[in-house]
Amino acid sequence: MDSEQIEQLIAASDLSSLLAALAHATGDPDLAPSDLWLDPARALEPEDGWDPAQLERARALASDGLARLATSRAGDGGGPDDALVPSLIDWLTGTDLDEGYRRMLAEELAVTGDLRIPEPITAPAWPPASTSDHPVAVIGAGMSGILAAHRLKQAGIDCVVLDKNRDVGGTWLENTYPGCRVDVFNHVYSYSGEQRPDWPEYHSSQPVLLDYFRDCTRRWGIRDRIRFGVRVVSLSWDDRASRWAIRLETGDGTEEITAGAVVSAVGQLNQPLIPDLDGAGGFAGEQFHSSAWRHDIEWDDLNVAVIGTGASALQFIPHLAEAAAQVTVFQRTPPWLIPRPVYHEPLAGGLLRLFELVPGYAHWFRLRLFWRTHEGTVGALRRDAAWDGPLDVAVSPRNNEARQLLTMYLEHQFGDRPDLLAKVVPDYPVGAKRVVLDNGIWARTLKRPNVELVSDPIDRIEPEGVRTSDGRRHRADVIVYGTGFRASEFLMPMRVTGRGGADLHETWNGDARAYNGVCVPGFPNLFCLYGPNTNIVVNGSIIYFAECGAHYVVECLRLLAERGATAMDCRPDAYDRYAALMDEHNSQMAWGISPVNSWYKSHSGRIAQNWPLPLIDYWRQTRSPDPADFELL
Ligand code: NAP
Repeated sequence: MDSEQIEQLIAASDLSSLLAALAHATGDPDLAPSDLWLDPARALEPEDGWDPAQLERARALASDGLARLATSRAGDGGGPDDALVPSLIDWLTGTDLDEGYRRMLAEELAVTGDLRIPEPITAPAWPPASTSDHPVAVIGAGMSGILAAHRLKQAGIDCVVLDKNRDVGGTWLENTYPGCRVDVFNHVYSYSGEQRPDWPEYHSSQPVLLDYFRDCTRRWGIRDRIRFGVRVVSLSWDDRASRWAIRLETGDGTEEITAGAVVSAVGQLNQPLIPDLDGAGGFAGEQFHSSAWRHDIEWDDLNVAVIGTGASALQFIPHLAEAAAQVTVFQRTPPWLIPRPVYHEPLAGGLLRLFELVPGYAHWFRLRLFWRTHEGTVGALRRDAAWDGPLDVAVSPRNNEARQLLTMYLEHQFGDRPDLLAKVVPDYPVGAKRVVLDNGIWARTLKRPNVELVSDPIDRIEPEGVRTSDGRRHRADVIVYGTGFRASEFLMPMRVTGRGGADLHETWNGDARAYNGVCVPGFPNLFCLYGPNTNIVVNGSIIYFAECGAHYVVECLRLLAERGATAMDCRPDAYDRYAALMDEHNSQMAWGISPVNSWYKSHSGRIAQNWPLPLIDYWRQTRSPDPADFELL
């Protein structure tokens, strides 16, 4: 490696991740020295908040490390020393972490392999062979469902995965609208044990994501456990037999199978929400939801009305604007935009070279992103008594700073169009609703001559278009609903009947809760992944939660096997305590304080979706079930 190559690699790198990777690869802790300790409060600043002298030293160390690595690779040893990992994790996070935290981050890092692999569950086997058609049924073959099947297989437990679709992928199979891509860095939005450094883009598109989930399914050898084209319509718990009866629609009719346990991996964002707008039934043209995209429509001469300006709409509207004659965008509440210049960019060539040449760089880079994008920023959404301004503006001084920065971004983007600027600046605190990534495309789209942003409320739909409350009629040939999903209606439309005939949806009464986000009293051996209060808000990866949840399910089954029990039912007091904890902490977060409408809230206004605590807390509580919180049957 000559000095020019070294310079190029350093320029392409995230320098702190590179130093950690080099220290790890060479076994030399001095490449991540204490005078370059990272300050978490400056995590979002350019160059990690290092001053010029520190930056120069960091570059010199990286250059030295790269040169040494090249030589050692040529033959004289060096190589990873795992004992270094905990101290490098502390260094990269700029925090003196406790053992649990280090372990959790080491699992995320997975530099020495997939640390989440469960120990096989050995005798006494669970469940007794004669009790069920299938030991476990997993509903859904999306991101969480295939992971659950993989972890169960590793633990030596057979399962069947049931999916209504003809392929794996769930939301990444169903959402095919133009522009659909992941709005979390792909190096974080991937399984810790199946990292892929060579993502084509920082935020890959839907087909790339779908291929990744297909590949994982193949590599894990679980495809033969999946039954495609079967829809679960109901689950009922048989008290006497201690198993679930599962009614399926198969395309040829109905069928019933049984399972000792059920893992619901049906997602939160897959039941489309189409608002009940007056007159919609009489609309003369085509109308459809973003998750059921009509690829057969020729857009050229069409006037299109789009309802909604959430994450989905902001991805497909720029494409519609290029394809259609006219696009009218109906906005009820503007989103806060987070600038992300690389949103649509391919991975920089130098970065790919780094992944190739520096063993482990991709893992440390992922860990840095993981830390930065979640633990590094979520604090800015929590209420702080030091804030004495109005809560409808901000919830803390840091939250207010974020608001000012993001307002400046909007002013910069829309400064030449005061008419648009007046409509796009949100009037609620940052984080009260889902933020949306932007690389300038939203302003460019709204400024096009064939695009109009309408912020007057919709009054009704008429055969020829959309009438707004100011009396204007906006002609439309097609209406596209970017109106989101019925996120609070967990496990709908399945009918779920538990002990004593209790109905799950009646129990929840429109306000879903689950102990650890997974278990509900009265519904033994029913385990929810991406269940109530497990959604994260500021761009952490939901895959982290699926990994914690899948681990917990396996540990619950292990508890059953060890205790010789067939079923476990969460105790109501543990469930209530847990819900109170969620409510208490959600009430301190921007999304719980602000009255603005969002899919984070159930119909009662309670936050039924979001996780309000640090990520480590979810990891800790899903390590193993506390037997005291369950009745074993
Ligand atoms: P959403 O965030 O719930 O946005 C729905 C939009 O429709 C909002 O602008 C909403 O306005 C509007 N709306 C709903 N009902 C309306 C009505 N009756 N009249 C007028 N406007 C109405 O849904 P989404 O954009 O599909 O995104 C849902 C979630 O999916 C995201 O938050 C994100 O977590 C996930 N997602 C992820 C990605 C990704 O990573 N690639 C992409 C897309 C979506 P209000 O704001 O006023 O309610």
